[in-house]
Amino acid sequence: MGQVNNVKCPICQNNNGCTKDSSCWCNDESFPRDIFKLVPSEYQRKMCICKSCLDSYKESIKPSDKNNRHSDC
Ligand SMILES: [Zn+2]
Repeated sequence: MGQVNNVKCPICQNNNGCTKDSSCWCNDESFPRDIFKLVPSEYQRKMCICKSCLDSYKESIKPSDKNNRHSDC
């Protein structure tokens, strides 16, 4: 297992803000399994999704929310 130092979100290419340790914000978040379908397979488990993508994805899958907002990551 080599060191992976990708700090870019594979979806939006912005900094994902992941610190890769227990203080990272992603430890407190739940990632819907389907969000990883948005990530190219070669990047899965290598690059973390950023919080804004996670938030907009969660917004997009909210069944009760029908305001049809464009989720522009
Ligand atoms: Zn992102």
